[in-house]
Amino acid sequence: MSIQKKNRAIVLGGSMAGLFAARVLADSYAEVIVIDRDALTGVTEPRRGVPQGRQVHGLQARGQQIIEDLFPGITKQIVADGGAIGDMAGNIRWYLNGKRVAQAHSGLTSLTVTRPFLETQVRDRVLELSQVSFLEQHDIVGLQATEDRGRITGVRVSPHSEADGTETTLHADLVVDASGRGSRTPVWLEELGYPRVEEERRKIGLGYTSRLYEIRDDPYEKDEISIGVVSSPATPRGAIAAKQEGGRVIVTAYGILGDHPPADPEGFDAFIQSLQVPDIHQAIQGLEPVGDPVPYRFPANQRRRYEHLTRFPDGLLVTGDGVCSFNPAYAQGMTVAALAALTIRRHVESDAPLDPLRYLKDLAAEAVDGPWELMVGGDLAFPGVEGERPPMTRLTLAYMKLVQEAAVHDEEVAIAFMRVFGLVDAPHALLEPGLVLRVLKASGAAASAGIEL
Ligand SMILES: Cc1cc2nc3c(=O)[nH]c(=O)nc-3n(C[C@H](O)[C@H](O)[C@H](O)COP(=O)(O)OP(=O)(O)OC[C@H]3O[C@@H](n4cnc5c(N)ncnc54)[C@H](O)[C@@H]3O)c2cc1C
Repeated sequence: MSIQKKNRAIVLGGSMAGLFAARVLADSYAEVIVIDRDALTGVTEPRRGVPQGRQVHGLQARGQQIIEDLFPGITKQIVADGGAIGDMAGNIRWYLNGKRVAQAHSGLTSLTVTRPFLETQVRDRVLELSQVSFLEQHDIVGLQATEDRGRITGVRVSPHSEADGTETTLHADLVVDASGRGSRTPVWLEELGYPRVEEERRKIGLGYTSRLYEIRDDPYEKDEISIGVVSSPATPRGAIAAKQEGGRVIVTAYGILGDHPPADPEGFDAFIQSLQVPDIHQAIQGLEPVGDPVPYRFPANQRRRYEHLTRFPDGLLVTGDGVCSFNPAYAQGMTVAALAALTIRRHVESDAPLDPLRYLKDLAAEAVDGPWELMVGGDLAFPGVEGERPPMTRLTLAYMKLVQEAAVHDEEVAIAFMRVFGLVDAPHALLEPGLVLRVLKASGAAASAGIEL
C-alpha cells in the first residue's frame, strides 16, 4: 500500500456506489468530497435521487461480506438498530418454479432492512472518516479537463442555494462517477472528443410494486426473515415478503414484459393471490398495511461497455449503476457496487500511476461480467424475453432448471445455488463434478435417463 497520500478525490453521487467508493478512496487520498443533489446528512427516509428506495432492497451475501470488511462491526450495528438477520438458505422460505427449496444452514448472512436504512448505516460510517466531506444539494453539471482533454481535473457544480444556476468548479486529482444509471459521463466524454461508450440494453419490461406493513399475526415460521416466491417461466410473476427494521415487513411484487403489479390495494392483493404458491397472500392476511403500494418501472437491463474503450481520460473512473444496472429481481446492484469498490481500492492503492483503461477492464472482469451473465442468462429462461439462445445458452438454461429442481430435494444443492446467487461463488461452482452428480440424482434427471447413480 502507498504510504504517501494523494491529494483530493471527488465522488459524484452519494448513494451506495458513491459511499463505497468514498470509503476506499479515504485510505489513499487526503481529502474525499462526495457530491449529491439531495440532502444526505441525517436523512433517513427515501429520497428523490434514489427513487427505487421505496422498493425491497436485498443485500446479497457477498455484499454483506464486503460491507463488513469495509466497515467492521456494521452488521452487528444494523441488527442492534432493529434490522433482521438470518441465513440466506436457512432462514428464507424460497420457492423456485412453485416448489419449496430445501432449507439448510449455509453460513451466508442475509440482512433484511429498507434501502434508506442501509444507506443511512453506511453513510454514517463514511461520515466518521475524517478525510471525507459531503457537498449536498449541489447539481453536478459537468467535468473540467486539461486543455488537451487528456485528463479530468475537476467537476463543475451548481448549488441549489443559487437560484440563478451559478456554477463553481472543484479541482480534483481523481473524479469517480457514481451518479447512477442516468450518469452523464458518456455524454461528457463525447463532448470532450472521446468515442461514445457502447451501451447494451436488454429489454425486460419489469414492473415492481411494494407495500409496507406492520405485523399483527406473525406469518413467519421459526427464525425466518423472509418468504421469496421467485418468478418462473411458467408463472413470470414473483414476490417477496421480507422483514425490515422496526418490526415491519415489505411486500414487493413484480412481473415482466408489461405484466405489472397494480398499485391500487385491491389490485395489488389480487396480483399476490395469483402467484404460484399462496404463502405470501396468506402472510399479508396477518399484516396491517402502512400506506399505499408504490410502483416502479424498470424497462431494461443496461450495461455500458467502458471496458471496450481504447481511449479514456486520466483522472476519471466510473462505478455502480452508471456502468451496469441489473434487473432488480436478482438483487445484485449494491453488491456489484461493493465489488467495484474493491477494484477501485486495488487501483488507487498501487504506487503505479492510475490507469483508467486498465481499471475499466478489471472492473468488468472482477465485478460485472459474472453477475451480468447470470442475470442475462436467467432472463432468457422467460420465452418472451428478446435475445439469442444459441445451443450453449439452451444447455445452460436446461441445467439451471435441473439445479433448481434438485435444490428442492437436496440441501447441498440448495446451498451451492444460494452461494452462486449470492455472488459468493462463480457460476462454474455448479459444474463441480460431485455437485453435477447430486443435481442429476436429486432432480430425477438421472432416473428418467435410466442411469443409476
Ligand atoms: C426497483 C429497484 C430495486 C432494486 N433492488 C435491489 C436489491 O434488492 N438489491 C440490490 O443490491 N440492488 C437493488 N437495486 C439496485 C440498487 O438500487 C443500485 O444498484 C444501488 O443503489 C447502487 O446504485 P448507484 O449508487 O450506482 O446509483 P443510485 O443509487 O442511482 O444513486 C445515484 C446518486 O447520484 C446522485 N446524482 C445523480 N445525478 C446527479 C447529478 N447530476 N448531480 C448531483 N447528484 C446526482 C443521486 O441523487 C443519487 O444519490 C434495485 C434497483 C431498482 C431500480
